[in-house]
Amino acid sequence: MEVIVAKFGGSSLCNSSQFKKVKDIVLSDDRRCYIVPSAPGKRASGDYKITDLLYLCHQHVKKSLPFDELLNLIEDRYTILCGELNLTLDISKYLIELKEKMLTGVSEDFVASRGEYLNGLILAEYLGYEFIDAADIIVFKKSGSLDEVATYDAIRNRLSKVPKAVIPGFYGASKDGMIKTFSRGGSDITGAIIARGVGATVYENWTDVSGFLMADPRIVNDPKPIDEVTYKELRELSYMGANVFHEEAIFPVKNEGIPINIKNTNDPQCKGTFILNEKHKVKPGSITGIAGKKDFTVIAIEKTLMNKEIGYCRRILSILENNNVPFEHIPSGIDSISLVIDDSELDNKIDKILEEIEVQCKPDSLETYPNMALIAVVGEGIIKTKGISAKVFQALSKKDINIRMINQGSSELSIIVGVENEDFEDAIRVVYKAFED
Ligand code: ASP
Repeated sequence: MEVIVAKFGGSSLCNSSQFKKVKDIVLSDDRRCYIVPSAPGKRASGDYKITDLLYLCHQHVKKSLPFDELLNLIEDRYTILCGELNLTLDISKYLIELKEKMLTGVSEDFVASRGEYLNGLILAEYLGYEFIDAADIIVFKKSGSLDEVATYDAIRNRLSKVPKAVIPGFYGASKDGMIKTFSRGGSDITGAIIARGVGATVYENWTDVSGFLMADPRIVNDPKPIDEVTYKELRELSYMGANVFHEEAIFPVKNEGIPINIKNTNDPQCKGTFILNEKHKVKPGSITGIAGKKDFTVIAIEKTLMNKEIGYCRRILSILENNNVPFEHIPSGIDSISLVIDDSELDNKIDKILEEIEVQCKPDSLETYPNMALIAVVGEGIIKTKGISAKVFQALSKKDINIRMINQGSSELSIIVGVENEDFEDAIRVVYKAFED
């Protein structure tokens, strides 16, 4: 029998009219058996997310500050929901319990997880599905990582007896019952784990956009949607800033070959984006998407006969290691090497790093170039097609944009170019235009 696991994000469950859309979606396909909700998200810009309020409550408790007003905001949201959906659930009982527990000192993870827990209770009654607490089937090790064996055993045992259920996202528990959350946005991960555990036909991830777009719509006007993206392409695109889906949620379903379908709760007819192991067809000469990030610093090191000097690169890299600074790329020439570093990792350590390179590596020249942006042109088709890089470079040169770095990984899944921060948006626009059709 075919089974769909459907995860609904916070914007899909932010108020009663969104809940109604979710119910229509779930009940329109009998295969939608296991539903994973997030906590209620923002109803409009400037509104608050329940999870943020819960974290804030916990901070207040820790500092012995009053938190009644915050808790009232949370209570109001849930009470209005239950009222508008005509539920019998006594939500205030759960909130009184939560307050008591907070006063006796519960963990931050426990408090944060209640957003999903309460929303799960509401959604279960509204859909007429059984509620299964994620704490019973998502098992964490003491170290905080997922206990895969225990989790998949628990999912199989429990869900094989329950044909339709709502399982709250974002958290689980260790064997001794301590609640533990995934990182923010982690309901995507819960959905993926459930999908794998029940051997789902597809994992649907419902949000407020119709899947991935070829480029950031804040930069490119009306970019085309991406129908299909491979797990590998997605990894490159999300690493470079395209964030619709939690990166870690790929892993549980990837090896099982379970497709992920990103769908829009506000436009359910749109087929959205499929994330797959392999694309059905790769159009020659096409790319899948463009993503990018600003604010990198390049440290450029030159030394004659660097290529003959054994251990030179190792010395440079151990300086980064000793300063606890990771690098993004290391393009190199015969007598030169550049370190491309994310500014957020540099953390005022640049002078110390430069000094150590000067002393330990004695370069002929040592320069830094701040304010660099990286742009990745991503596509499985790149390896099979001549002229993709030529098209990228031509587009940039026509716009008079200076390319400061080029990197094509050995997987040939992406071409990465470095440009000045100030050229970032223009560069994305012209490269997109070059591949638009
Ligand atoms: N509610 C959690 C968060 O805001 C988890 C999720 O929505 O996926 O991060």
